[in-house]
Amino acid sequence: MLKRLTTQEYIDGILAANRMILSRAITLIESNLPSDKVMAREVLNEVLPKTGNAIRIGITGVPGVGKSTFIETFGQFLTNLGKKVAVLAIDPSSQISKGSILGDKTRMEKLVNEPLAYIRPSPTGGSLGGVANKTRETMLLCEAAGFEVIVIETVGVGQSETLVHGMVDFFLLLMLAGAGDELQGIKKGIMEMADLVAITKADSGNELQAELAKLSYQNALHLFPPNNTGWYPSVLTCSAITQAGIPEIWEIIQKHRIILTENDHFYQKRSEQNLNWMHEFITQALSEKFYQHPQVNIYLNSIQQDVSKGKKLPISAAIEMLNLFYQS
Ligand code: GDP
Repeated sequence: MLKRLTTQEYIDGILAANRMILSRAITLIESNLPSDKVMAREVLNEVLPKTGNAIRIGITGVPGVGKSTFIETFGQFLTNLGKKVAVLAIDPSSQISKGSILGDKTRMEKLVNEPLAYIRPSPTGGSLGGVANKTRETMLLCEAAGFEVIVIETVGVGQSETLVHGMVDFFLLLMLAGAGDELQGIKKGIMEMADLVAITKADSGNELQAELAKLSYQNALHLFPPNNTGWYPSVLTCSAITQAGIPEIWEIIQKHRIILTENDHFYQKRSEQNLNWMHEFITQALSEKFYQHPQVNIYLNSIQQDVSKGKKLPISAAIEMLNLFYQS
């Protein structure tokens, strides 16, 4: 058994960039024990002034597009520049399978051995919203521990990319060339969130196809209404094997930071994200309380049946349940 750390030991360890203590603090954040939650919040509150200094990058794309290979190469590119890089993940599948996109650390076996890099698998269990919350808090701890670039990986197949988009400064969408379907099951909404689209695997004779895909995605991006941030998303090709395009991607991310800082959208976005986080947390907490309520639990099933059989208006059923919740 490891010795229990005090709140102060956690705080000091994180601020001193002690990896072992950082990992234990993240485990504390992931814990569902009420006493751990209180302590985690105390630690977070104390380190808060030291957070916010990293560039936060979200990376998404369908399984097989090359996310983990890309992060392995991009991460090493950054550590070679002397940057401290933390890689986190939000894995929607881990809710069901308890597996994790970063669970298998061999997927980034070189980066994992880089002294300047830190890789933490996706938290498992609980709702996707809860998992996202823990990842956000983990990001803050990593920033307090001095990481300069935070990469958050997620699979572009569901809602998780919207959650990641809501917690990063820069959203990178990875796409395959010539995979038939123009948008490869990537919803239009995800394209619209991207600050940059990178066509992966532009190597080994696949370069021309990648160029063609680039043109086609460039056209697709032009169809979206311009956003109001002063940033125009672009498309490029890259290879995690030859490193083609990797320095350009880092350059674009830095340029984005400069432009949005100059026109103030950078901090506006972060403050909106913080407000959304607060409201999401309130919604989640209230909803959990509601569904755990004994009276609600007793009647939930039968009211649900009435609604699904069309015997009761959904709104009336909802009001009935809310009354049960408020009255007892
Ligand atoms: P993920 O599921 O999106 O994380 O994708 P992976 O990173 O696991 O990559 C899926 C497959 O594509 C693996 O077999 C990789 O070796 C291969 N791959 C990834 N990036 C590249 C690349 O830049 N070039 C080539 N030729 N293959 C790649």
